[in-house]
Amino acid sequence: MALSIGIVGLPNVGKSTLFTALTKNEVAASNYPFCTIEPNVGVVAVPDSRLDRLAELVTPQRVMPAVVEFVDIAGLVAGASSGEGLGNKFLANIRETDAIAEVVRFFKDEDVVHVDGKVDPLSDVETIKTELVLADLDTVERALPRLRKDAMRDKTLGPRVALVERLQAWMEQGHRARRMEMADHECAMLRDLHLLTMKPMLYIANVSEDELDRELPVIDGVTPIAICAKVESEVAELEPVDAAEYLESLGLTEPGLNGLIREAYRLLGLQSFFTAGEKEARAWTVRIGAKAPESAGVIHSDFERGFIKAEVISYTDYDELETEAAAKAAGKLRIEGKEYVVVDGDVMHFRFNV
Ligand code: GDP
Repeated sequence: MALSIGIVGLPNVGKSTLFTALTKNEVAASNYPFCTIEPNVGVVAVPDSRLDRLAELVTPQRVMPAVVEFVDIAGLVAGASSGEGLGNKFLANIRETDAIAEVVRFFKDEDVVHVDGKVDPLSDVETIKTELVLADLDTVERALPRLRKDAMRDKTLGPRVALVERLQAWMEQGHRARRMEMADHECAMLRDLHLLTMKPMLYIANVSEDELDRELPVIDGVTPIAICAKVESEVAELEPVDAAEYLESLGLTEPGLNGLIREAYRLLGLQSFFTAGEKEARAWTVRIGAKAPESAGVIHSDFERGFIKAEVISYTDYDELETEAAAKAAGKLRIEGKEYVVVDGDVMHFRFNV
């Protein structure tokens, strides 16, 4: 499955501008059968210079980067949880995403009206948070009567009811579910409620182009990622050479979107491993800490089920030695078993039997 990130934010903060920039970089989603192909979904390659290097070394028939799905989630305005704007329609879209990226307006532009009349990023963040918390409270309130009823029959459900009640009280104070202190097993108990405020959040500060290096206030405990949506949309229109020159003139080394994708990986504890062969060089996404069979399962469930072993070359060794044969000759091709914990950048080949 592709990592999917929902883009939310108040109206006129630059969501569409950013989303349009993203989709200019879209990959052919037909090559990624697990991706959703809908007008509000953009399937974007994860930028990775290591994959480019592997492709140069292996000269495969095709190169397949890992992808991220960005979902443009419209309709989140103050009052959305009670039916304002598109009302609850946006909720269905958000629920399926792995993380939420909130675009926050920092840019000042007299010509672009702010829904509340003034540019006030922290107040906008509060507005969105309130809507998400209210939507979750609604979910919890609907779930509780049923849970309580079930708990009368099945005593083992007692702790779950208590937990959901504690969560309800917490969210009634305006807090996001994710901020409540919980043990891992408690988190797991809440999973099937699909709460929006349990999802990791990224904040994108949409700043003016002359303020890309400005200091940003901490939001919700993290520093937001500065992006200028207008610049991103212009860069997306340019040929690579011109784009690089334009970015340089702004003091940037790469599009802001790259940083956004990297941050999402970090936030979600994800990493990449590679497969490299004549047919295809490809980057795959897996959890940090995943063992070899789980990683094999990212490619195909048969690979996991019938996992025998993995041949592994670290990316740095591959980069240095340049071929699989040379890596093998240098003793840098390792045979790893079921307990092997995959390292970011591993170039892997799985042996399996089903
Ligand atoms: P959305 O409602 O959040 O999707 O916002 P849009 O992307 O439609 O942007 C609203 C308006 O703000 C449009 O006129 C954009 O051209 C403008 N806009 C978006 N990003 C920027 C930016 O970084 N700087 C400036 N000056 N204007 C922007």
